[in-house]
Amino acid sequence: NSIVNGITRTIETATDVVTSPFSEPVIRLGVTGLSRAGKTVFITSLVANLMDRGRMPQFVPAANGAILSAYLQPQPDDTVPRFPFEDHLSKVTSKTPSWPEGTRRTSELRLSLRVRSSGLLAGVSGPRTIHLDIVDYPGEWLLDLALLDKTYAQWSAETLDRMNYRKSADGFRNTLDQFDATAEFQETALGALSASFADYLEAARQEGYSDLTPGRFLLPGDLEGSPVLTFAPLPDDAPQGRGTYWRECERRFEAYKKQVVKPFFQEHFARIDRQIVLVDVLGAIHNGPRAVEDLRTAMADILSAFRPGRNAWLSRILGGKRVEKILFAATKADHLHHSQHAKLTAITAALLRDAKDRADFAGAETQAMSIAALRATTEDTVDHKGTELDVVRGTLENGRQAAFYPGALPDDPAHLMGPARDRAEQWLDEDYGIMNFSPAPLTLKAGDGPPHIRLDRAAQFLFGDRL
Ligand code: GDP
Repeated sequence: NSIVNGITRTIETATDVVTSPFSEPVIRLGVTGLSRAGKTVFITSLVANLMDRGRMPQFVPAANGAILSAYLQPQPDDTVPRFPFEDHLSKVTSKTPSWPEGTRRTSELRLSLRVRSSGLLAGVSGPRTIHLDIVDYPGEWLLDLALLDKTYAQWSAETLDRMNYRKSADGFRNTLDQFDATAEFQETALGALSASFADYLEAARQEGYSDLTPGRFLLPGDLEGSPVLTFAPLPDDAPQGRGTYWRECERRFEAYKKQVVKPFFQEHFARIDRQIVLVDVLGAIHNGPRAVEDLRTAMADILSAFRPGRNAWLSRILGGKRVEKILFAATKADHLHHSQHAKLTAITAALLRDAKDRADFAGAETQAMSIAALRATTEDTVDHKGTELDVVRGTLENGRQAAFYPGALPDDPAHLMGPARDRAEQWLDEDYGIMNFSPAPLTLKAGDGPPHIRLDRAAQFLFGDRL
């Protein structure tokens, strides 16, 4: 009997595959990274290049013609904002191209691919459809995972403690000194305190700190101004009885965990199959050793979400499901001549080694790469006082054409990190700071080369195996 049941079930499954649109395979690709890492540009360029497919030689299913067509479809999640692909694309492809506005909240886009069947099925079945659901979300939101293990009192104490050493906290400390936590609760007073706290988080981020929670205070998405985003840390000597500021902040902190953090992990994070983490490594290097060190610790915090063993609640939500592949991509590699790309990749891998060593990301396959989703420069070699320099050339935001030599990255990543870093000299000189290139006008001239750097390799690693 059980054999018969088994066969019936197999037949049902088989017909499902042929007839039901619901059984069409879906790859959920998560795209994350800290603010300005390059998520929006990456998604816009990836989708445009997958639809075009002419310039992705290292993406096997495009190069060998297995992908017959690629088209946008309504996404499966009705309540998630759609990634405004068309708006972003029109910005970067206009006559005077400009960069699109970056990620402020999660959004989603479904790209469907018609793919020629291969292997055993090649002769007997027609093309298959595979959906690529791209989910864009701020890396800052992953930092909130740590809040789930904390009470309001713990979070307040830690947050206030950190402020003692930060210049960016001066404003909030003043506001808090003048705040009367014993007074009768008033929404406007708490609103002002909370706004001052949000200003501190923003200032601390600009100072280079990354241990900044709650993540939504920095990128509120649709929740701006709502009570779950209107609270602040208070000293533990504040009165804590009914009707006090403390009690109300504690309630909102718990609501934030339950109604903001948990749903994000349940509804978005837990369903991701493949993940790309974009990192502005060059920006951090340019800002100096402290910024590199901060980026390293921020990445370790962000990536702890991919090591679910560390959080009991998350492990339960995932129920054994895991992200199969994670790509760590240093973005904006077009700021450097290709002769330095290998060094950039080595530095990226080294930055993440700490996070990687502590756990193996629950068996996920990982790789580091240097990419430019949208190449804004061309390369050249110029003579500079008798020595040859490898430069990049592009159009600055003021419309001027310029060639730059941003300096040489160290051969050994250890010179950027750990004890040796204090001895390191300035790696990327002042030139790097003014390289605000506009996106290059897109040309389709033969011989121009792909309008990206290794976007095709990134796609191959992330989902080439599934097509
Ligand atoms: P997000 O905040 O992670 O969504 O970041 P964006 O995608 O908006 O990128 C932030 C900025 O980085 C853009 O406005 C560009 O100035 C720059 N950028 C991103 N990707 C590239 C790239 O491939 N090449 C160059 N030259 N600049 C890039």
